[in-house]
Amino acid sequence: MLVVMQEGAIETQIQGVIDRLVEMGFTVHRSTGVLHTVLGGVGPVEQFEPADFEVMEGVKEAHRIVSPYKLASKHFKPGGTVIQVGNVEIGGSHVVTMAGPCSVENEYQIERAAEIAMKGGAQMIRGGAFKPRSSPYSFQGMGEEGLKLMRKAADRHGLKVISEVMDQTQIPLLVEYSDILQVGARNMQNFNLLRELGKLRKPVLVKRGIAATIEELLLSAEYVLSGGNYQVILCERGIRTFETYTRNTMDLSAIPVLKRLTHLPIVADPSHGTGKRDFVVPMARAAVAAGADGLLVEVHHDPEHAMSDGAQTLRPEQFQEMMTQVRAIAHAIGRTA
Ligand code: PEP
Ligand code: MN
Repeated sequence: MLVVMQEGAIETQIQGVIDRLVEMGFTVHRSTGVLHTVLGGVGPVEQFEPADFEVMEGVKEAHRIVSPYKLASKHFKPGGTVIQVGNVEIGGSHVVTMAGPCSVENEYQIERAAEIAMKGGAQMIRGGAFKPRSSPYSFQGMGEEGLKLMRKAADRHGLKVISEVMDQTQIPLLVEYSDILQVGARNMQNFNLLRELGKLRKPVLVKRGIAATIEELLLSAEYVLSGGNYQVILCERGIRTFETYTRNTMDLSAIPVLKRLTHLPIVADPSHGTGKRDFVVPMARAAVAAGADGLLVEVHHDPEHAMSDGAQTLRPEQFQEMMTQVRAIAHAIGRTA
């Protein structure tokens, strides 16, 4: 259920509603907007009578929410969520770029990647230290050493860091070295991991699973939100369809759909979305045109020799071209990039 407080409702009125909900057995999540405070309750919804709350002082309206996700729903925070990562805002008017290799490979490579990302105007560097590979014989990532190298390169170039967490045991390391914890497509429904991430107070980016619906993606976000961690970013990275020419089918329509359904920021990953580098730049342009709040792209100084995902990894000059074009698109829709 949701209780929307009136503009200018005072703290004692808000607390009065919270107390009554808690008494009834609800867990209450509070969203303090510019105009309205919204209280979202998870609990015995069948006992919730909106009319009983609408007569309380300071209450504007009350609703039973039928959607299966509540805290991720647009109603909970109509103004949208802006996630602050130091001086970088995700979900604001600036389209954020997170760029770097698929995997951290060595110091030279990640330094070059940070330099390329920074020169292009990206705000964050990406790179996996723990890699979910389809084959157990493929490179599995550098682990902590990789995280250390990426943090160092990022700090030297004034960038933030995003990196993947594959299971609960890796959380402390990721918290230490990374600014955003990425949940990969293969882990989108690892509910134990999502619950643990809900206990953090640190941004989490949840990628859409290869066979996940938009609703399932939102329910995965709900796992993190319901733990009290409200810093969740969604990522469209393509889904598996009957089409085989591209690695995945980048579902661009998910971007405007998610914009309607949720207040959470949405990032697009055209690298995994297409699997081939020549299609990454046009899909990056399209994603920004469709309303994405950010881009997550793979770039490497020498993609031919990348240890993972080389075929979809941009060359440095393609990345620069992408940034120039994306800036023009952002400008055309009243944003910056
Ligand atoms: C990645 O970002 O390198 C990655 C493994 O992505 P996904 O989980 O989308 O396959
Ligand atoms: Mn990759």
